Amino acid sequence: MLIMDYSRLVEVYEELSRTTKRLEKTHIISEFLRETSLEDIEHVILLLEGRVFPNYDSREIGVAARLMLKSLSTATGISIDKIENEWKKQGDLGLVAEVIIKTKKQSTLHSAKLTAKKVFDNLRKLAELQGEGTVGRKTQLIAELLTSAKPMESKYIVKTILMEMRLGVGEGVIRDAIVWSFFGRQLGIKYAKEGNDIEVGDREIYNKYADAVQSAYDVTNEFAEVAKAAKKGLSALEGMGMKVGIPIQVMLSLKVDTVEEGFETVGKPCAVEFKYDGFRISAHKNESGRIWLFTRRLEDVTNQFPDVAEHVRKNVKAKTFIIDSEAVGYDKKTGKYFPFQNISQRIKRKHDIEKMSADFPVELNVFDVIYSDGKSMIKEPFEKRRKLLEKIIKQEPKKIVLSRMKITSEAKDVEKFFKEAVNAGNEGLMFKALNAPYKPGARVGYMVKFKAMMETLDLVIVGAEWGEGKRSKWLSSYTIACLDENDNFVEIGKASTGLKEKEEEGLSFMEMTRLLKPLIISEKGKEVKVKPKIMIEVGYDEIQKSPSYSSGFALRFPRIIQRRLDKGPEEASSLDYVKKLYEGQKKR
Ligand code: AMP
Repeated sequence: MLIMDYSRLVEVYEELSRTTKRLEKTHIISEFLRETSLEDIEHVILLLEGRVFPNYDSREIGVAARLMLKSLSTATGISIDKIENEWKKQGDLGLVAEVIIKTKKQSTLHSAKLTAKKVFDNLRKLAELQGEGTVGRKTQLIAELLTSAKPMESKYIVKTILMEMRLGVGEGVIRDAIVWSFFGRQLGIKYAKEGNDIEVGDREIYNKYADAVQSAYDVTNEFAEVAKAAKKGLSALEGMGMKVGIPIQVMLSLKVDTVEEGFETVGKPCAVEFKYDGFRISAHKNESGRIWLFTRRLEDVTNQFPDVAEHVRKNVKAKTFIIDSEAVGYDKKTGKYFPFQNISQRIKRKHDIEKMSADFPVELNVFDVIYSDGKSMIKEPFEKRRKLLEKIIKQEPKKIVLSRMKITSEAKDVEKFFKEAVNAGNEGLMFKALNAPYKPGARVGYMVKFKAMMETLDLVIVGAEWGEGKRSKWLSSYTIACLDENDNFVEIGKASTGLKEKEEEGLSFMEMTRLLKPLIISEKGKEVKVKPKIMIEVGYDEIQKSPSYSSGFALRFPRIIQRRLDKGPEEASSLDYVKKLYEGQKKR
C-alpha cells in the first residue's frame, strides 16, 4: 500500500494550472488516478476538486483571510502587518505563503514529509472545531501544516483552506477522468495532447460506461466511492446502491404547455398529480431510526425542520426508506396553502427553529419512494412505487399526506383536476408515466409539469422609450395601461419582451415604432408619450402591488403576446378586473 505524498498531489495541481483545456485536465487526472491507491482515493479526489467534504455535506472549513494571516504569522514568526503588506502586493494569500515560507525555509524551518492524508485530516479537523478557543486551535492546526510544508505545498494548503483553488476541476471533469482512467484501456481511449483531441473508439460503448459512472454518482454523490467501484469494474459500478443518509439527485421534470402534449410525452393512461408550490424534500430513515431531510440541491435541512422529521418518523411505516416529496407551507389560521416565498426563510434558518416551525408550518406531500426496507425501488415502475407509498404512509392532513393523484386517459378529466388543483392554491399538475423508473438527476420525460397560465390582459400602449445601441432607432420599451372606473388609462408596467428583432418573424420593434411614431404627443429625453390607440395582449407571471405605476399594480415579467386588432382601446382590461385577478392569485 502506498500512501501518497502531498507533494505528488501538488505536482498535479501545478500541471492542471498550466492548462485551461478541459480535455487536458481530464487526461491529467485520469493518469493520476491510475497511480492512486484505494486508501488514498477518497481524499485525493476531494482535494483535486479543492474541497474536503462532498458537496452535499454542509460542513465548512470556516477559515477567513484574517485567521489565515494569523496562522501564517504563527508558522513563520513574521508579523501580521508585514504579511498583510505582502498580500496587498500579491493579491493572493496562497502566493504570499509560498514566498514567505521559501525565505524562512532557507534559514530556520525544516520541512517534514506531508502526506495527502495528513493535510486532508487537518483540514477536516478545522471544520469540526467549535466554541471557546476555536480561533487559537485553528491557528495551531494550520500553522502545524505550514511549518512542515514546502513552499509550493503551502501555497495549495492555503488556497484549499480559503476555498480558492479554481483549477477548473468540476464534477464533469472528475466523472470523465474516472471513465478514462479505469476503462480507458478497454475502450481504447486515446488522448492526443497536440490536437487536444480524444478518440473514444466506439461511442456507444463509451456512453455505456460514462452513463454507468454518472448513474453511480447520482445515487451516491461521492466520486471517491464511484472511483473505488470503477477500479473493480463495470459490474461493481452497476451494483452500486444508494445509502440511507447520503442524498441522491432527484428526478427532474420537463415542461408541457397543453394537456395533449402531456399525454404525448408520458403516454396514456397516465397519472396526474397536483403540482404543489413548495420545495422538494427527500426524507431518509436508517435502521436505528435516524432521519435526514435533504433539499433538491442536496443540502441537509434536518435541523431546520424538526416538525417534518417528526411527521416522517411517526407516519412512514417502513424500517428504512428514502421518500421524495414537496413540503408546502400553509396559513395556520385558514389552513390555505402559501406560495413558496412565505416559507423559504425556514430553509436557511439557524435560530428560533421551534418558533419558526410553529409560525410557518408545512405539510409534506409525498409523491415517490426510492428505497424501502433495504430495497432500491428506482428500477420499479411508477405505478408500483405509488402502491407501495399508499401502503407505508399513514396520512395525517396538515402533517404528511400523499400527493393528490388520479389515473386517466381523458383530457376532460385532466382539465377538471387541473382546475381543482389551481383552486386549492397549487401551481398546476404533473403528468407521470405509469411504467417509468425513477431516474435520479435526469430531466427525462417520465414526469412533466403543466403549470397554470395566468389570464392575459388586453392593455393599451400610452408611452414608449427609444432603445439603446442597435435598438436606438426603435421605440423599444412600452408603457402599458388598463382602464380605471372613470375610463382613464392608468399605467401598470413596461413591456418589451415578446417583440421580434426581424420583421419576418412576427410583430417586430420596427413595426411597432412605425405604428407609434405618428401617435407621439410629447418627448422628454428618451421617453415619449403616445395617444392611447395601440392595444396589445400581455402575458405575465404575477400581478403585484406597486406604488410605481398609477394603477397601483405592476406586472411581473410582462410579455407581449400579440396585437389586438379586434378590440379598440375603450375595451382594454379594466382596473377592476386586474384587482380581481390579484385577489384570485392571493387565494391560490
Ligand atoms: P419546477 O420547479 O417548476 O421545475 O417543477 C418541478 C418541481 O415541482 C419538483 O422539483 C418538485 O419540487 C415540485 N413538485 C410539486 N408537486 C410535485 C409532484 N406531485 N410530483 C413531482 N414534483 C412535484
